Amino acid sequence: MTENWSIAHSSELYHIEGWGHPYFDINEAGNVTVSPRGDEKKLDLFELVENLKKRDVNLPLLIRFSDILADRLARLHQCMQEAIARYDYPNIYRGVYPVKCNQHKQLVEALVDYGKPYHFGLEVGSKPELMIALATLDIDKTGETLLICNGYKDKEYLETALLAQQLGHNLIIVVEQIKELFITLELSEKLNLKPQIGVRAKLKTKGSGHWGNSTGEKAKFGLTIPEILTVYKTLQEKDLLHCLKLLHFHIGSQISSIAVIKDAIREAGQIYVQLTQMGAGMKYLDVGGGLAVDYDGSKTNFYASKNYNMQNYANDIVAGIKDCCDEANIHPPILVSESGRAIASHHSVLIFNVVNSNTPPYKLPEPVKEKEHLLIRNLWETYESIDEENYQEMYHDAVQFKDEAISLFNFGYLTLTQRARAEQIYWACGHKIYNIMKHQAYVSDDLEGLADLMISTYYINLSVFQSAPDAWAIDQLFPIMPIHRLNEKPTEKAILADLTCDSDGKIDKFIDLLDIKKSLELHKLENINNNEKNPQYKPYYLGMFLVGSYQEIMGNLHNLFGDINVVHLANENDNYQLQYIVKGDNVANVLEYVEYKSDELQERLRRLTENALRENKLTLEQSQLLLKNYDHNLRSYTYLT
Ligand SMILES: *Cc1c(COP(=O)(O)O)cnc(C)c1O
Repeated sequence: MTENWSIAHSSELYHIEGWGHPYFDINEAGNVTVSPRGDEKKLDLFELVENLKKRDVNLPLLIRFSDILADRLARLHQCMQEAIARYDYPNIYRGVYPVKCNQHKQLVEALVDYGKPYHFGLEVGSKPELMIALATLDIDKTGETLLICNGYKDKEYLETALLAQQLGHNLIIVVEQIKELFITLELSEKLNLKPQIGVRAKLKTKGSGHWGNSTGEKAKFGLTIPEILTVYKTLQEKDLLHCLKLLHFHIGSQISSIAVIKDAIREAGQIYVQLTQMGAGMKYLDVGGGLAVDYDGSKTNFYASKNYNMQNYANDIVAGIKDCCDEANIHPPILVSESGRAIASHHSVLIFNVVNSNTPPYKLPEPVKEKEHLLIRNLWETYESIDEENYQEMYHDAVQFKDEAISLFNFGYLTLTQRARAEQIYWACGHKIYNIMKHQAYVSDDLEGLADLMISTYYINLSVFQSAPDAWAIDQLFPIMPIHRLNEKPTEKAILADLTCDSDGKIDKFIDLLDIKKSLELHKLENINNNEKNPQYKPYYLGMFLVGSYQEIMGNLHNLFGDINVVHLANENDNYQLQYIVKGDNVANVLEYVEYKSDELQERLRRLTENALRENKLTLEQSQLLLKNYDHNLRSYTYLT
């Protein structure tokens, strides 16, 4: 333990309370704990990872806590129930899970299972997702479980949907483009089936944040008001107005501001009321997704946060729709929402290890000798005279001398050894100035460059592209922190660089209460080898939290780092058991994605070694060793073990 440092300090530093409550916390041992049901029963995440490693489940590793999923689902329903009771809303709530948020079989199956008491349904946005839903969702004889079909639809998609309705599903086809209505009507006439139709409205209310362009006039999806009227008229002419049952909107994901949600509800509420008054068979109002996750724990309308809680969200929907309907004297609709992020994010934790670190070079320089180069003597003098009064001025001197040293070297006036010496003293100046700077209340802008220079790089056993694509593609922030050593003071500031040979493969933006941080506080790696030149580090594990939605799906095979190991933990008889392990890709798997067959590769290598043997470039033992390694590599994990 470090003096003056406690787990309370760590808790504050990483804001774990803000983004993690009630699931994540820190225990007395300084390790992160997980409470899968948000109650007092806690698991030590560090011990869990150590135990998994003993079972040969190596890092990087994604751990899914099924109970967190169940808890999120229960909370959402509880909030809607509470709002319905509070405002005396004379109808019910029937939610659906948008499959696109995380399509993994185990997860969709678990949600369908946990959702049964609530008649919780599914929302699909493509033909493959519809196939998943049909394979997963049970037929609910009460007809209360919804299967909502969104997204662009072709004839095949629509035909499958219409027929699936006959299996007994309460399936609604949501028209997103006018064309879909005509195909649907044509098909249903041919099949002699009555479709249940919904319309997705393009609202004027603008979303905000990264996903804000799902709404407004330029939105990719949905019908404008004139188009909705075309749907209405077409159905009216065919005497099918009773088939128009649902109004849907989706203003984007991660809506940080409650004001935006309120506006959308008001607009959609009016459309719903008028369609009902015009004689459409309206029954459902589907408010889409958008319920946000507080990734930075700041409770603000910053894009990584949200300025409302789940109960506020439920209240505003219920009260908003009730007001609209009461004014018009209309029976309020069954409320539907399609929350993905808010349900799936918390249940997955990505654990990875640090393999190495690159800290700004620092070695106390040898005192200068009289006959050394003038430039080196100047640098040394600068180093010696740095104090709290002059550190800013000394910084500029040090930079200037270092630049001069490089010029002289380039023209052949400084030897390699002299240049090394100059650089070493320069870095020593940097450290000395930085240490003074850290304790100042205010630092001028020109010293910010130095602060950036002093940031270390920690190399992580991960592919950001594969496992956290949003962090890279759209600068999404996820909470990241060590899962142990939290009773020690983290003395380093670092960015994280991944294993891929791509300069974008890094994480250099971190959550903060105000805006974002350019570096993360981490502990010094502990060398367990006595040899300083060939350090061997004690394992250091980091966790990236709230990664259960969207991240697993978009991952690509950058540098052929494949799927990582996944384990599911579930509660059985009050004990957490490994429900199952899904082993990540091995090298042969990822090569197959890009069309290389293992046996062909092995055969080719075998022929090459035969040739080398014949030409005496390899001994028989060496050739066998090469083939054996090649074979072993094909069967091993794509990450460092
Ligand atoms: C993506 C999407 C959702 C899920 O949104 P979240 O913000 O994750 O809840 C819901 N409905 C539609 C139509 C979507 O495209």
